[in-house]
Amino acid sequence: MNEPKRGVVTVISGFSGSGKGTVVKKIMEKDPDRFCLSVSVTTRKPREHEVHGIDYFFIDQEEYDRMVREGRLLEHAEYAGGCYGTPRDFAEEHLAAGRDVILEIEQRGAFQVKEILPDAVLIFLTAPSADDLVARLRGRKETEEFIAKRMAKSVQEAANIGRYDYLVINDTVEKSVSDICRILDSERLHTDDCRDLRTMYHEDFISGMQEQLEAYRKEEL
Ligand code: 5GP
Repeated sequence: MNEPKRGVVTVISGFSGSGKGTVVKKIMEKDPDRFCLSVSVTTRKPREHEVHGIDYFFIDQEEYDRMVREGRLLEHAEYAGGCYGTPRDFAEEHLAAGRDVILEIEQRGAFQVKEILPDAVLIFLTAPSADDLVARLRGRKETEEFIAKRMAKSVQEAANIGRYDYLVINDTVEKSVSDICRILDSERLHTDDCRDLRTMYHEDFISGMQEQLEAYRKEEL
C-alpha cells in the first residue's frame, strides 16, 4: 500500500484579540479528518473552563525542562512569564498519517518551526484595526492593565509580520476560515492561487497597523 502524502504543518499566530482561537476552532470543525490541532504543553496555570489535554497539557517546570532537554518539543518559547511548547511526537505522527497539523503559537516558536521545517506555512491573523483589537479584548472582559500589556506586545509582534508567508485579515470568521482553507489547499497541491494573501502584497496594511498600534500605545500608557 502507498504511504499517505505527508500533511502540511501550518502555524497560525496573531495579535491578542485577533480572534485566532475562534477561527482555528472553525477550521477544525470543517474537516476533522484532515485537520489536526496540536495541543501544547504549558507551565502557566489553567484558566477557568480550560481542560487538561484539550486546551493544553498543564505541566510543571521540572517536566517542561525535561521535555526540552530530551528534545521532545518541536519548538518552545516563553510568553508573558509562562513556558510553552509543541510536543514533537504528536505532530510527527499525524503528519506522517497525511493530516495537516495546525499549531496556534506565538512568533518565536513560529520562526523556530520554519527553521526546522522550511516547508511549514506561516500565517499571521490580524483584526482589521488596532481599535478592533481593543474592542475584542474589552468584549472578553479583560482588565485595562491586561489590555495595555497585550497591546504593547502587539507593537513588538507587528514588527515581524513580514516574516510570515500569509496575512489574513479577520473581518469575519467565515472569511478568515475560507482564506486559511484556500491557503492550505494551495500549499497541499503546490498551486499558487492565493498570492493575494501573501504578506508581501500587504505592506501598506502592515505599516498602517504598526502606526495605529504605536499611536494607541502612546495614548494609553
Ligand atoms: P495563552 O496563555 O493566552 O493561552 O497563550 C499565550 C500565547 O502563547 C499565545 O500567543 C499562544 O498562541 C502562544 N502559544 C500557545 N501554545 C504555544 C506553544 O506550544 N508554543 C509557542 N511558542 N507558543 C504557544
